[in-house]
Amino acid sequence: MKSDIELIDANGKRLDGRTNDQLRDVKIEAGVLHRADGSCYLEWGGNKVVVAVYGPREAVPRHTQDPLRAIVNARYNMAAFSVDDRKRPGPDRRSREISKVISEALEKVVLIDLYPRAAIDVNIEILDAEAGTRCAGLTAAGVALADAGIPMKDIPVACAAGKIGAETKDGKVSGGHVVLDLGKEEDNFGDADLPIAISPRTNEILLLQMDGHLTEDEFNKAMDLAMKGCHDVSKLQKDALINKYAADVEEVE
Ligand code: ADP
Repeated sequence: MKSDIELIDANGKRLDGRTNDQLRDVKIEAGVLHRADGSCYLEWGGNKVVVAVYGPREAVPRHTQDPLRAIVNARYNMAAFSVDDRKRPGPDRRSREISKVISEALEKVVLIDLYPRAAIDVNIEILDAEAGTRCAGLTAAGVALADAGIPMKDIPVACAAGKIGAETKDGKVSGGHVVLDLGKEEDNFGDADLPIAISPRTNEILLLQMDGHLTEDEFNKAMDLAMKGCHDVSKLQKDALINKYAADVEEVE
């Protein structure tokens, strides 16, 4: 979508002062809920997310069980108060889609073969939404799964890159800047968004979606930036887990 808003200036500074390869501020805390098996609170720019993990436990109803492996049920939900115009509570097409792609991404890293007939429930609650909530939700889910002690090949992490500031003339799009981690206005008025999730140890792609248009060259640049963003956020995920467990050990001592 095109707007009159200048999303990036001549010096390459974005609306919130970031450079093209800079993330919004990310804060992660593991183990914030006492009744869940694992949990995480995450702030990413203006996004606020809580994730609660339950399981592995027997999947009910029984017809949902898989005799060979566990199923991962991610449920992404946006609180009614998380967006400017109050959102109608309950699931909609968008939240079903996001729940599905996150469930499939998580199933690629969780050792599901260890738990036949079980379910692992991952409740992702978006308290405040400001673009990039699927990446924020999946990243928090990775920490909450690790906090629950669920065996995984790796801690999954997500980040997006996109394109802003292109010119549209006579139906032709030209120019534009590939940037990391779109903010709200950039998401609303930008030209493309490319959220990915990876397993940072192997760089295996767990999720890749794209909204808008990118040339092959822009796509490759956006992938490199999003990968770099994922690796930066991955360090913060590990710090959050270390902080929680260091505090637990101190308490025992
Ligand atoms: P993501 O949050 O993963 O970027 P989208 O691209 O679908 O997913 O949404 C971009 C942003 O649009 C969201 O982060 C949120 O700020 C806003 N948004 C999404 N759904 C709604 C809604 N129903 N009402 C108002 N704003 C919404």
